[in-house]
Amino acid sequence: MSIPKTQKVILFEEIGGPEVLKYADFPVPAYADDEILIKNHYAGVNYIESYFRTGIYPSQKPYVLGREASGEVVAIGAKVGNFKVGDKVTYISSGTFSQYQKIKATGNIYKLPKDINDEALQVMGSILVQGLTAITFSELAYPIRKGDYVLIYAAAGGVGQILCQLCKLKGAHAIALASTDEKLALVQKLGAEYTINSKATDIVEQVLKITGGKGVHGAFDSIGKDTFQITLKCLRTNGKFVSYGNATGKIPAFEINTLPRNVSICRPTLYHNFSEPGEFKHYMDQLYEFYISGQLEFNIFKTFPLEEYPEAAKLLESRATAGKLSLKIPQ
Ligand code: NDP
Repeated sequence: MSIPKTQKVILFEEIGGPEVLKYADFPVPAYADDEILIKNHYAGVNYIESYFRTGIYPSQKPYVLGREASGEVVAIGAKVGNFKVGDKVTYISSGTFSQYQKIKATGNIYKLPKDINDEALQVMGSILVQGLTAITFSELAYPIRKGDYVLIYAAAGGVGQILCQLCKLKGAHAIALASTDEKLALVQKLGAEYTINSKATDIVEQVLKITGGKGVHGAFDSIGKDTFQITLKCLRTNGKFVSYGNATGKIPAFEINTLPRNVSICRPTLYHNFSEPGEFKHYMDQLYEFYISGQLEFNIFKTFPLEEYPEAAKLLESRATAGKLSLKIPQ
């Protein structure tokens, strides 16, 4: 296969709204001896792209967006032994809103069956970040136990839907928050035992009523600034607060000695869960098995051509999605 010198990518050169996004020509990366080059077929859209574009997270410009993709190995470095040209793979890396990306052969990359069908290839290139976030955070950040009450914000979102399903699998009671009746009906179908409209003004009261006045054992809050104090009040003694996103902005600084009732807080980042060799494969094996066995449902809400990523970003940020947005990469 001949590899071109330039490719199409989605990038930005200044921070701002979706209007700063460009579908532009960009060099195909040169790969080193220990790297492989992948021709992307699908890439998943994640909320983190909005954080980079708006400047909540810093970035070097021009910045090519994207965090995950699936596709086919098209070239390998001289010292790579564990992959060959033609392998189907899925991987986590920056810069995946592109036709080609390189990655170290020892990086966060996972080999898929050679005969994988197109639908599965799309799912596996689109749910890595959200799926692995839900699986690792519910095991490492706050290990959900049978019988626990668990509060889940943005429950109809990508990560939220998987957290609701994991609660059910683990025998826990999910209390799901989302902003519309349609979203709440969806998460109920996925296994959430209780639902609360996130626009309600009495969330704490509703949570205390459900939990017999005690509060939840754990909370997954990706909303950030606007919900921090509410979530704190919903936790029971020794409860665990997993703060893992900032959809409404960064949480202001707070005094650690104001934490009530022995509540503990963590702010986990997915990538730190793969710092030891073998960890990525361990959790990917779980994710793949959950998918293949049908134990977890991964909803692709809408697919856009790569060029139309700005529309996908607008849709995600408008709170109108219920599930995963995926990009089809031009071949
Ligand atoms: P989602 O599909 O959950 O989309 C975001 C949802 O957040 C919306 O649908 C909306 O649901 C809710 N929301 C509430 N307030 C706002 C607001 N002001 N603006 C926009 N959305 C709002 O996204 P993802 O599943 O991709 O990600 C979920 C969160 O997890 C993100 O914050 C992301 O950054 C974080 N994350 C963190 C990781 C980490 O390593 N720490 C890794 C992966 C994801 P509703 O309308 O129902 O309230």
